[in-house]
Amino acid sequence: MQKPLAYTPKNVWETLTRREEVDALATRYIDFLSRCKTERETVAYVCECLAKAGFSEDFTKKSVFRSLRGKTVFAARRGRNPLSDGFALIAAHVDTPRLDFKQRPLIEQPGVVQAKTHYYGGIRKYQWLARPLALHGVIVRENGEKLPVTLGEKPDEPVFCIADLLPHLAQKQGAQTINDAFEGEKLNLVLAHSPAPDTKTKGKADKKTEPVKDHLLILLHKQYGITEEDLITAEVQAVPAGPARFAGFDRSLVGGYGQDDRICVFTALEALLNAKSAGRNMAVIFWDKEEIGSDGATGATSRFFQYCVEDLSRTWGRKASTAQIFLATQAISADVQGALDPDFQDLHEKQNAALLGYGPCFSKFTGSRGKYGASEADAEFFASLRGLLNAKSIPWQTAELGKVDAGGGGTVALHLAAYGMQVIDFGPALLSMHSPFELASCADLWATLAAYRAFFED
Ligand SMILES: [Zn+2]
Repeated sequence: MQKPLAYTPKNVWETLTRREEVDALATRYIDFLSRCKTERETVAYVCECLAKAGFSEDFTKKSVFRSLRGKTVFAARRGRNPLSDGFALIAAHVDTPRLDFKQRPLIEQPGVVQAKTHYYGGIRKYQWLARPLALHGVIVRENGEKLPVTLGEKPDEPVFCIADLLPHLAQKQGAQTINDAFEGEKLNLVLAHSPAPDTKTKGKADKKTEPVKDHLLILLHKQYGITEEDLITAEVQAVPAGPARFAGFDRSLVGGYGQDDRICVFTALEALLNAKSAGRNMAVIFWDKEEIGSDGATGATSRFFQYCVEDLSRTWGRKASTAQIFLATQAISADVQGALDPDFQDLHEKQNAALLGYGPCFSKFTGSRGKYGASEADAEFFASLRGLLNAKSIPWQTAELGKVDAGGGGTVALHLAAYGMQVIDFGPALLSMHSPFELASCADLWATLAAYRAFFED
């Protein structure tokens, strides 16, 4: 068939024949999103799925995985091709914007005890006020014993909340800019309100007392056996409470927290587990710390990924050098794109904006203002992927994040590119990205999985 001369992106919904399969996939995705709200929970889920599917931590085996500190995980499947031909690699990130407890979080203010927080990643602060939040994380005792924390998810569990100013007193705040009106230092979570019933200092208003904090510490000790000092070394994160769910009358969207970038983790993992083993060696790496610049032992700039490949070069590689493997590797930096916002269309350049429902989106480059800080894919690699998807009739699109000089952003692509491999950003678009309730199209979820799988099976 003659290809049309003009290019038009395709709407995934129009190409779908089996809607029930899309619904089933979205249902499993919703369950995953509801269960995995932190990097630790996501990595634990991924490791569990890999182990169940027969992946081993023994790198002499054909399907292997390794995690580091429960916050990043690498997995690979050996293909027929020699390792010197490199991997088909998909990289995504498991961390999401949230509010972390400060090291000394507890503070008694008139009437309440609050937890002081320091936000993690790019948030719009006002979105975190006046909504139910759950606590997730881990408390580690001096003897190394770990106490996992998940509180506020089950219907009978209490939730936590940052109070917002009532409109009656918000006159002055209304005239401020958003950045001035919402201070990071005021993102304090209400934890408790009732004083200890038998507080010895009851009624002695002149004496500096903290009856509510005293009560909270008694409760924490009774329920969990912890002291205030245990909180100092803990990792406690406040995240939006409650499950992800279908959105819209037609149930065509998934609404939920942390879809940046767990939609890519979910689809990349599914693709790795279910791809028909072809010639290619397949791998995924799921990193932590992307939202705060990818530094740290479990982020994309750490050597962990390199060490995994070095170890595989010894067991699978025969005489392939790691340089050979890296240089021959083709990678997808699997991260989300901001979809054209129907109410802020003027912030996008529409011809080069991502549309919900038009399939996973290529970003040839990221960065901002003259492509600064960007990794840019080469035309050869981009064209080969386009050909692969077209051959399998999988819809795709291409976008930049916002207008020139207005938007931009970064991904882990440049950290992969540092190894000399071919890499391109490719993932679904979201509405309300980085908010406590992001929206993804079920059709894009479907098409992204199909695309990642095609990449592995190529
Ligand atoms: Zn992301």
